[in-house]
Formats: sequence, structure tokens, C-alpha cells
Amino acid sequence: MPNMRFEALKKSLRREHTQIEEMGKRSELFGQQVFNEEKMLQFLTREAFDNVKSASFQGSKIDRKIADQVAEGMKAWALSMGATHYTHWFQPLTGATAEKHDAFFDIISDGRAMEKFGGSQLVQQEPDASSFPSGGIRNTFEARGYTAWDPTSPAFIYKTTLCIPTIFVAYTGEALDNKAPLLRALHAMDEAATGVAQYFDKNVRKVHATLGWEQEYFLVDKELARSRPDLVMTGRTLVGNPAAKGQQLDDHYFGVIPPRVLSFMSDLEKQSVKLGIPVKTRHNEVAPNQFELAPVFEEANLSVDHNLLLMDVMEEIADRHSFMVLFHEKPFAGINGSGKHNNWSLATDTGVNLLSPGSTPMKNLQFLTFFVNTIKAVDTYEELLRSSIASASNDHRLGANEAPPSILSIFIGKQLSDVLDELEGVSKGKLSPEEKTELKLNVVGKIPEILLDNTDRNRTSPFAFTGNKFEMRGVGAKMNCAKPMTVLNTIVAKQLKQFKKEVDALIDKKKLKKDEAVFNILREYIKSSKRIRFEGDGYGMQWQEEARRRKLSNNKNTPEALQVLTSKESVALFKEMDVMNEVELRAHQEVELAAYVMHIQIEGRILGEMIYTHILPAAIRYQNLLLENINNLKEVYGAAHKKVAESQLNILEQIGEHVVAVKKLTDEMIEARKSANSLATINKKAQAYCNNVKPYFDSIRSHSDKLEKLIADDLWPFAKYRELLFAK
Ligand code: ADP
Ligand code: MG
Repeated sequence: MPNMRFEALKKSLRREHTQIEEMGKRSELFGQQVFNEEKMLQFLTREAFDNVKSASFQGSKIDRKIADQVAEGMKAWALSMGATHYTHWFQPLTGATAEKHDAFFDIISDGRAMEKFGGSQLVQQEPDASSFPSGGIRNTFEARGYTAWDPTSPAFIYKTTLCIPTIFVAYTGEALDNKAPLLRALHAMDEAATGVAQYFDKNVRKVHATLGWEQEYFLVDKELARSRPDLVMTGRTLVGNPAAKGQQLDDHYFGVIPPRVLSFMSDLEKQSVKLGIPVKTRHNEVAPNQFELAPVFEEANLSVDHNLLLMDVMEEIADRHSFMVLFHEKPFAGINGSGKHNNWSLATDTGVNLLSPGSTPMKNLQFLTFFVNTIKAVDTYEELLRSSIASASNDHRLGANEAPPSILSIFIGKQLSDVLDELEGVSKGKLSPEEKTELKLNVVGKIPEILLDNTDRNRTSPFAFTGNKFEMRGVGAKMNCAKPMTVLNTIVAKQLKQFKKEVDALIDKKKLKKDEAVFNILREYIKSSKRIRFEGDGYGMQWQEEARRRKLSNNKNTPEALQVLTSKESVALFKEMDVMNEVELRAHQEVELAAYVMHIQIEGRILGEMIYTHILPAAIRYQNLLLENINNLKEVYGAAHKKVAESQLNILEQIGEHVVAVKKLTDEMIEARKSANSLATINKKAQAYCNNVKPYFDSIRSHSDKLEKLIADDLWPFAKYRELLFAK
């Protein structure tokens, strides 16, 4: 059989990049394939339009008659756009998106065909999606799953299918997806934050969380990627000797984008813009063949949908340009992996960013209120927030000196640290007129509208304030942002609710003025949440020790990190905020643990297969070549052959050692897997995979990589790092 690698190399060398077609004005293409307000006004009755708007603004229900009207309008629009199918588009707990297409086409009673799509098809579906993970929620036969329309995220046409964003819930109402808990968390946030925002502006009716993600990814030549079973099956390379050149020259970062990649990006952006994804920036990232794409921020639920849609579109467009796109958090050893920073803030319906300092002391007090409450929330629930970014693939990144550590901390910069230090000195109870003036002029008043030293950001911080938003940096590139966004919004909502209670109590019982009460509570929060603030180097060992002294959690792997999800405090929190009940939390935890086990299990299987059926045979073939040569030399030189064959004998010996070692370790790994599989609970299994199976991967890899260095290049079966990473 011809060597896959060389076939692939031949193909990849012959590639020419497709010409870039200029996309014209983005603003004209924007949202072409989205059933947005403009289309709704055109295709819906005024009554239907108003109902959809108020459902999306206030979460009000849409009755069946109106749903029928909306469905009729949506169908007319979709057919006019050439759509043939519709689907409820949802986010099962696998982390990806799912869809099941139905044709609009239907047969009516007299045998004629018609294009059918009514309110009932729009509002609710029962996909036979019983194979999605449910963590036991759907064990019983009656526990069917339903998808239900989310009118806050507009329908869109992808290829020829009308996609309707939906939640996925069990018959009993429990969430089977990542969207339902997110929507509940965002609702809790709206309620809590609106209450607090009204201290400062009575006109605020609604607060929504905003999210701007930054998607990092790798592009690898499709043919080369396909020659590697590990990339195809696990999304990362399980073996591979680092290329002579990695990212040490920093010559890729923000460099000129290679032409083939640029035509991929243009194509991608054109598609994205039509789908209403407001893509904005693109650039090379730190590692070779690594890139980043960021949109303009949006309301968090819509932004999550757009990120998931974008990842689907990227896979398709990459394929069209003969690339494979890798979202795995650590596809290659020795160079940076990929993350997805989540920039987060809160915005009012009056157009104010609540985390943006303003031009008046009152606006700044509002800013400080939301700022300090966020800090306090992260301090109280740091371990829970950490758990929301736990996954088998993200374990490779967190704490590996390229992404933030698994310890949560907050960076706010010197200017704001100084402000908080001053606020700590505010008097208890009523404030004298002098103190008030002093606070207004010299403390709160001094917060500049633009925070200068935040340009000097601490890149090692997992949760950094960057001028007018917080940036959560530990989120993995592959992850559904709904998970961290659900936790972050829940904990901040809970904190704001608590804050309002305390402030109101001071106003009612202690007769303090509103601003006095706010200052009093903020002072206490600043004092009690100090341990979470850290301005230093988050990558250093010193911080690990310091964090331990501060009693911050440091859960280094997924099975450990997930435990807190079902702690008494977490259960109480999610219940109080109406985000998840205990059954859902247990189910979600179980699904995450099972996903962890399966990922490591698949990696173990592929690694075993690669060693036994590719790497050992290549090593043995080369051994035979060497032996043949040594034997031939012996025939010619007799006993003197040892001298002329010295190098061959030495290489033969080295190969022999690695062959023995790599096989032994692989066999041990397979045994460890077997005993992990025999454990009774998913928790024990996950821990066994983490502690007893996974550690073998690195040692197996190290022998395999040494073999790669020794064996003749033409015998090596897998595309090498330099080929995967430097093919342009
Ligand atoms: P970087 O972190 O790479 O320096 P920027 O500061 O330019 O990037 O912003 C990164 C992201 O922050 C963008 O995706 C942008 O949409 C998002 N962003 C900006 N303002 C907000 C906000 N108020 N809420 C949420 N995200 C925001
Ligand atoms: Mg960033």
C-alpha cells in the first residue's frame, strides 16, 4: 500500500489558492439569510411582529394563532430564498449543534402535494434524538425530549435549510441542552441587574449580558491531516516530534496572512456576514498556522448561537479550501494551543454599558457597583466558574504557561486597584458632607472615562478587566460558550440580588441615603473579596503557593474540577436563581464526566492502534534494512565489519530499546484502560482515566517521537509537524 503521507504531501504541494472574490459592501450582505426585523416587517402581520418582539424583549408567550402567522411568514420568506427544508437547531450536551431536517413538502388528504409549515412545527418538535447524552434524565421510557422555539435568536437559512434556534428539554421540563440553562441565567441576570441599575436610572427596563468571543483555530492541509488517524479521530496529534522551528521566532504572530488562508477567510467572512454573524477582525496567532477571528459583541444568547454556527460554517468552508480546521485546545505539543476569550459585560436597554466608567461621579458609582459586585461574585464562586471551562481537551491548556492557570483570579490594573483601596477607607454608616465631596471629586470622580493602564494588560490573568468589560480567558476554543456564560451570569445575578437586599436594608432600617448605602456595602465587598484580586504573574510557581495560602481552589483536571457542580452551595445557588434544579445539575455533571472518559478512552485506543499498526511496523522495517546492510557488510569485511557498521549497529540498538519500551508502555496503558472500564461509577472511571490511563500517553509519545527521529524519513507513516504546520 502506498504511504498515505507521501500521497498527501504530493497533493498538498500541488495546491493553488483559489482567487478571492471581493465581497463588496458588508453592510449590504449583512443578515441576508436571517429572518431579522427587516424581513419580519415584510413577511409578518403587524400583530405577529409585535408579538415576536415582545417575546424576545420580555419573554412573553406567543399563542398558537400568532405562532401560525409567524410560521406562515417564515415559510414564505424561506421559500422565496430557495429553502427546501426546515430544522429545529439545538445544542445537545455533546457541546456541538444538532439538527434534523424535514422537508416543507407534505401530502394533503386529496393526494396533492403542498409546502407545509405551521405554528405547531415552528413552536415545538419531538426529534427522535434519544441518543444524545441526558445524564439519566431520559432513562425512563416516558421521558421524551422536545425542542422548543427560542424567539430571541432569529431563524436563518443555512444552505437550503431554514434553521430555527431551539432549546432541547425533557418531557418533564429538565434541560437536555446548553441553551435552556443559559436563557434562564440570562433571565435571572436581567431581573437582578435591572433592579440595581434602577438605583442610578429609573428608566432602565432591561439589562442584557453581552458577549464577544475571540475564536482561535488552526488550519492544516486537509490531505495531510487526513493521513493522521489521531487528528481525524481526536482532533489532536498524539505523537509527533516537534519541528526544528516552532513559534520561537514569533514570525507568524500578526504576520502577513498566507494567500491560501486569506482566500479561506474571505469566503468564510462572506458566508458569516450573510448569516448575520458580525465578524470583524482576523489575524495570525502565535503558533504557526494558527489564526483568530473575532466578531463585534452581541447579546450573549445570540452571540453563543453565532459562535456555534460559525464553527459549523468554518468546517465547511475549510473543506472547500482543502483545509481541515482544528478547534482542539491543544492540537500540537510544544506550541500554543487555542482558546476562546469570552469578553463579557452588561448593557441596559437605554444603551449604557454598565461596566464602562462614565463622565460623572454618579455614572462612576454605577460602574463601581457592577464592577465590585462582579469581583465579589467571582470570589465567592471561583471554583464553580473554574468548573465551567473544564474539559478533557482544555486540561492541556490551562496552567500550561500559554493560557491562564486553573486558579481563578482577577486582574483590574493599578488605577482601579488604587480606587478600590481608597473606597476601603469610607466611613461606616452616614457620610459627612466633606467625605461625600471628597469621594465624588477625588475618588469616584477620578476614574477616567478611558482607563489608560488597561492597555497594559496582564495576559496571564484568567479574568481581566479590560477597560469596559471583563475578559474570561480560560475558555477553550472548542467549547460551547454557553457553559461559562451560564455560570458567570448566574453568580453575578445572585450577587447583585444580594447587594440590592443589603442596600435596601441600609436605606430602610438605617435611613442612609442611597449613595451612602451603596458606598457602605461596596466597602465591605472590597474588603471581603481581596483574595481574588491578583495583579502578578499567573504563570509562576509562586502564585500557586500564594493562591493556596489564599484558599483559592486549584483543580488541575476535569474530574476534580467538576465535583463542585453538585456541592450543597452550588445546588442551592442554581435552585435559588432558577437556572438548574438538582436533577439537571447531577445530569450535567454526569454527562461531562462521561464525555471526559470517552475522550480519553478514544485517545487511548487510537494511540494503541497507531503504535501497534503503524509505528512498530515502520521501526521493524527500518531495523530490517539496517540488518540487511550490516549482514552485507559482514560478508565483505568479515570480523572487521563492526567498525564500518558501527553507526548502523548503534542506531539498531537505539531503535530496539525504544521498540521494547513503547510496546511495554502501550500494553500497560491498555491494561489500565481495562481496569478503569471495570469501575462502577462514572466518577471513579473518570478519575482512573485521568490518573492511571492518561499519564501513559506522554511516555508512549516520548518513545514514539524518538523513533520518528531515528527512522528513515521515507518509512515514517505520519505527516510530520513541519509538514502540518508549515505547509501554506
Ligand atoms: P483583544 O483582547 O484581542 O485585545 P479587543 O479589546 O479588541 O481584543 O476586543 C476583543 C473582543 O471584545 C471583541 O470580540 C469585542 O467584540 C469584545 N467586546 C468589546 N466590548 C464588549 C462589551 N461591552 N461586551 C462584550 N464584549 C465586548
Ligand atoms: Mg482578548
